[in-house]
Amino acid sequence: MRIILLGAPGSGKGTQAVVLAKEFDLQHVSTGDLLRAEVAVQSELGKKAKEFMDRGELVPDALVVKMIASRLQKDFVLDGFPRSIGQAEALEKVLAEKKSLIDFVLNIVVSDETVVSRLGRRLVCGNCKAVFKEGVAKCGECGGALVKRKDDNPETIRDRLRVYREKTKPLEDYYEKTGLLKNIDGEGSSEEVFERIKKVLGKD
Ligand code: AMP
Repeated sequence: MRIILLGAPGSGKGTQAVVLAKEFDLQHVSTGDLLRAEVAVQSELGKKAKEFMDRGELVPDALVVKMIASRLQKDFVLDGFPRSIGQAEALEKVLAEKKSLIDFVLNIVVSDETVVSRLGRRLVCGNCKAVFKEGVAKCGECGGALVKRKDDNPETIRDRLRVYREKTKPLEDYYEKTGLLKNIDGEGSSEEVFERIKKVLGKD
């Protein structure tokens, strides 16, 4: 199964991607996690990406497409990619070469209030990247220390939401036209959202 997760920052894509990958044995591809790893080791790509990420802007399409093209396995869940029409077109080309197709595009829909409140309180495990809320002492998955993401501050959150509306939201129309788009109510607990997703996938 090949799945694209769409949705605003904080809509729960990352959390749902982890569960989907586990439940259906899919490769989890998070371009945000891959880019943060490149920044951490200060690779050439990381050095170029950092300035965009710190400002809440998109890293240029060519860099991101190159990063994921060679990584894609047979079955996957894409978390945070594509984020622009250019990336969606590039993905189509990459998949066409492999004679492969996307099965589902799941658009996780939440209100702006939910996004701002979730991102403002979000903590991430520095080790396994699992997501928690403020108030939790350590990672419930691996015991790792929890950190606040550098871009989860009010100013950058605003910029990321603006970039999402300008560059990523047009993908809803793009995938609606292909008949692949399914809207998922992203409000409520992660377990509730996953049940809704399973229904749409016909796996409930
Ligand atoms: P995320 O962890 O998905 O919220 O991504 C964090 C940041 O990484 C974004 O604000 C962008 O700067 C960058 N990023 C992640 N995925 C992409 C992508 N597909 N295209 C461009 N930039 C990306």
